[in-house]
Parts: sequence; C-alpha cells; structure tokens
Amino acid sequence: MVNEMIDKYIEKVSKILNIEMPKIIYDTSKFKTPTMKALCDGEKIYLKEKAITPDLMFEIAHELRHLWQIKTNKEFYFSEYKNAGTIDTETYNLQPAEIDAHAFAFTIMQEAFGIEPLFENMSERVRAEIKKRVEEIRAE
Ligand SMILES: [Zn+2]
Repeated sequence: MVNEMIDKYIEKVSKILNIEMPKIIYDTSKFKTPTMKALCDGEKIYLKEKAITPDLMFEIAHELRHLWQIKTNKEFYFSEYKNAGTIDTETYNLQPAEIDAHAFAFTIMQEAFGIEPLFENMSERVRAEIKKRVEEIRAE
C-alpha cells in the first residue's frame, strides 16, 4: 500500500519532468550517510524507508530532478560534479546540480503538499541560490 503510493508519486513527478519513470529499489547498501533517504545512480532510485514522510518525498523529487538534469543538460550539471564527501558541504551544496535539484524539490513540496522546506541545515548563501533557482523554475 505504502509502496503503491510512493510509486504513484514517482510516476507523477516523472511525468512533470517528462522523464521515464525509473526503477525503484529498496536497498540502502550504497548509501553514504545514515541520514540518506534516497539515492539515484543515474538510472534507478534507491530508497530507504517505506513510510511516507515529507523528507522522503523531498528526497525523491530531488533525485528525480537529477535524472532530468542528466537527460536535458548532462554537460552543464555533471561535467564538474563532485560527490558528497569528496569536497566540503558548502561547496557540494553550491553545485548547480544540487541547487537545481533542491529548488525543484522545493516547488514540488509547495505545490503538491503545501509544505515549504526551510533548508535549516544550509548556509544563507546556499538558501539564497536555491531561492533564486526556484524563481527561475517557476517562470519556466
Ligand atoms: Zn543531489
């Protein structure tokens, strides 16, 4: 039942992004931190919990947006992309791929659930960049 709802949500967001719905696998063995809830390897989405929480919905929208980035402008988003853990958190969060994925997930949370993520664990600068990108996505 819960899985069906998550499937439906992924299907809906994939449609919004005009991407093929990815395979969903409940496997956390590739996760890099204990707080990770979702991971995308460019093809499949790996998920941790089966309970639906706003955090999980946010993470899924974020990972699906990475698939959209790969499909639409891989060169721009990933030619200089560095994985988490290889650079400091601030630099990681300021990468165009992360800013765009966060901004997209923000618009989904707002439009689908009426929730506005606060990005409390992020710096003023990262929050400002995300906000700027949200405005661009809304205008598109
Ligand atoms: Zn990301």
